[in-house]
Amino acid sequence: MYRTTLEARIAKKTTKAIVDFSLIEDGDRVLVGLSGGKDSWTLLQILDVLRQRAPIEFSLIAATVDLGYPNFGAEAIRTACRERGWECRIEHTRIAGVMNDLLQPGATPCSLCARLRRGVLYRLATEEGATKLALGHHADDLIETLLLNLLFEGCLKAMPARLTSDAGAHVVIRPLAYVSETETAAYARERRLPIQPACCEACGDFGLERRRMKQLVTDLERERPGVRSSMLKAIRNVIPSHLLDRRLAGTEVVSDES
Ligand code: SF4
Repeated sequence: MYRTTLEARIAKKTTKAIVDFSLIEDGDRVLVGLSGGKDSWTLLQILDVLRQRAPIEFSLIAATVDLGYPNFGAEAIRTACRERGWECRIEHTRIAGVMNDLLQPGATPCSLCARLRRGVLYRLATEEGATKLALGHHADDLIETLLLNLLFEGCLKAMPARLTSDAGAHVVIRPLAYVSETETAAYARERRLPIQPACCEACGDFGLERRRMKQLVTDLERERPGVRSSMLKAIRNVIPSHLLDRRLAGTEVVSDES
């Protein structure tokens, strides 16, 4: 039995993503990127719940990249993991300090920060013998990314549920792809996971476009309830013949009334 209906709902959605995209297989050792925010805590907690019920064997290890900002709650994360019996590795870095030197004038820090952090997670995954790297992106992240790429990048893509890294050395998975942000926030609260406050100055003003997308979806959802789930459904229901990408041009239109 699950503890609550919320836990049951998140477990069901996570299991569906795992099955749909073969995210976790027998014998996997999954390194969970744990930033200390609501999403990554939810991911770690629900994977642990599923691990105890799964018909396959897999293990988990949490990995936190301390970017080097003062007041980061590394000890609170370590303590919470220890209390729950979760293996946890915290890597202290100087990413925050070096970013100013590496950034082009006027550039926003987040994509560079994410790349540097991902590089550390890849290294930790190798060192820990992990076969998968799990990230806490959820359905709202996918929807907002889809809109960002559509409106500002001229590209129709969201985020993959499963991706093999360029060098082929790492498999990145997103088991919360069907779970909403509202659900991750509620679940992290429900399980009393110690959500760490943002300690990066850029948090207040980064990703203006992303926040606009979030607001846009929120406003649309208020006007027309169901917009979010329709967008998520659209990501899962692509009709290549009705796009203009010549790489897909071999796709024959069988019946077209539109
Ligand atoms: S807000 Fe700060 S910590 Fe977060 S991705 Fe951007 S630079 Fe990195």
